[in-house]
Amino acid sequence: MHHEYYIKYIMKITTVFLDRDGVLNVDKPEYLLSLTDVQIHDDVPAAVKKLTDAGMRIIVVSNQAGIGKGLLDEMDAEMIFQTIIIGVEADGGKIDAYYYCPHTKDDECTCRKPEIGMFMQAVKDHGVLLEESVLVGDGFCDAKAAETLNIPFYLVRRGWGPATKRKCDTAGTPYVSVKDLREAVEKILALKDTTQ
Ligand SMILES: [Mg+2]
Ligand SMILES: [Zn+2]
Repeated sequence: MHHEYYIKYIMKITTVFLDRDGVLNVDKPEYLLSLTDVQIHDDVPAAVKKLTDAGMRIIVVSNQAGIGKGLLDEMDAEMIFQTIIIGVEADGGKIDAYYYCPHTKDDECTCRKPEIGMFMQAVKDHGVLLEESVLVGDGFCDAKAAETLNIPFYLVRRGWGPATKRKCDTAGTPYVSVKDLREAVEKILALKDTTQ
């Protein structure tokens, strides 16, 4: 697939950005509003452990407009996030940081993906090198953010994945199609292996 083309110039991967809903946990048709809605995908804890074992920094970046819409408050959102992180780290992997944008589209903030504010904050906070980063996500906003950042984008065939694939194909937005996080991690680590 032609999208592999831009990836072979990556020399080394040290940071993996992960979208949350649809990648780590099952997304909901509306918003994820309560702890009982949290359901971690089966492949995720082992996949995250693999990244951690490989020395990767793992950073979650998530749009949570439900907060801005008043559907849940920051404390609920924080608790849901903590619960997801605990589930994701169940096999011994480590999420190094997470960011979320609480705004709605109408707020026109600079953090809501496809804007790149959360990524730039991670650059500041953690010394992330974008040229050594990739993003795994299921949304078109993820694809567009990755395109703006000029980093490889792994599109999972989950959540919004199928719809996002069509949008990317129409818009010419690059992606590498993967079944789930496990397959994304395999590809990311293989990338690293061949260039070291
Ligand atoms: Mg998502
Ligand atoms: Zn925002």
